Amino acid sequence: MLEIIDISKSYESMEALNQISFSVAKGEIISILGPSGCGKSTLLSIVAGLTIPDTGMIRWNGISLTSVPPHLRNFGLMFQDNALFPHRNVYGNVAFGLKQLRLDPAAIDKQVSAILNMVGMKDLANRDVLSLSGGEQQRVALARTIAPKPRLLMLDEPLGSLDRNLREQLLHELRQILTKLEQTVIYVTHDQDEAFAIADRVAIMNAGQLIQIGRPRDIYEHPVSTFVARFLGLTNILEKSIVSVDKSNGVRISEKSLIPVSQPPPKHMKNPRILVRPRGAQLSEHGTLSGILAGISFRGALVDLKIIVSNELQLKFEVPTPSLIPKVGTKIKLELPSDASIWIEDDSL
Ligand code: ADP
Repeated sequence: MLEIIDISKSYESMEALNQISFSVAKGEIISILGPSGCGKSTLLSIVAGLTIPDTGMIRWNGISLTSVPPHLRNFGLMFQDNALFPHRNVYGNVAFGLKQLRLDPAAIDKQVSAILNMVGMKDLANRDVLSLSGGEQQRVALARTIAPKPRLLMLDEPLGSLDRNLREQLLHELRQILTKLEQTVIYVTHDQDEAFAIADRVAIMNAGQLIQIGRPRDIYEHPVSTFVARFLGLTNILEKSIVSVDKSNGVRISEKSLIPVSQPPPKHMKNPRILVRPRGAQLSEHGTLSGILAGISFRGALVDLKIIVSNELQLKFEVPTPSLIPKVGTKIKLELPSDASIWIEDDSL
């Protein structure tokens, strides 16, 4: 449906986007995730037609949008600090886009009621928008953007100004609303939890490049590089210097610790590193990984463990909560699953 083809954009000597290509299917929610300054907003602005790319093309249903001005693209755009119209009430804000489309008043009324109902604001239709809470204002901003039924909805850090609890609640509702509407969405955020909670697929960017795109679970299980892994909070990355290959199809990371991994690393990798997944391990006397417990935090059915494996290496694991919780400072052993680790490219060089 939407195709982003080979888009590059530089500002003076700064390369904001470097040959970005991906497509978005009808009804799909794609999240663009990356640190501040990686080019997310520039890409949205290009898709919206507000910024002209140096190279590349945006297509909709196979047709180039290069000569289609922003207001004729029928794309909806909502920012973090979307100001509502202060002199209109909730109803007036949501009806605004529909009036511009010159729909008849009965149709507008029906559509506004349906959307306000959907975002849980039906009873507040006559309220002055300045009297609303931050969360309510974001709901109205969302309702205003989706009311004209844009064929593509673009949200740029839409929940960024809200506190964590409210954000989590709205995020959950937002996913339900967008899925129900079968709305095609590009959702920009720098927050990994937010991206993973809302999106069907996540596109991870860094320094103007698209690093990886895929379903949240696939990215989490198979991050392609150390940048992606660290960005997702996966920090068990083994430096080359501490790894030696063991006969038994694993790698030795200390005198007493062995980690299963497929050998050798894939040929296409220039600087292969081993990522040890935190999940799937178990406390066991027969475990092949041993170390000193440096920290433990309780999360119900699971506990997070921090283990000092050697002078140079500390690893984190989540394991099923044992009946006897080990004490910090004691020696423990972990049994790792056969798929405990994967090779990833070191792109931090
Ligand atoms: P993000 O949305 O991921 O935070 P942006 O797309 O806003 O990133 O910015 C990407 C890079 O391009 C940044 O280094 C930013 O400073 C630069 N940039 C964005 N817009 C302009 C502009 N109009 N003029 C000059 N540099 C810009």
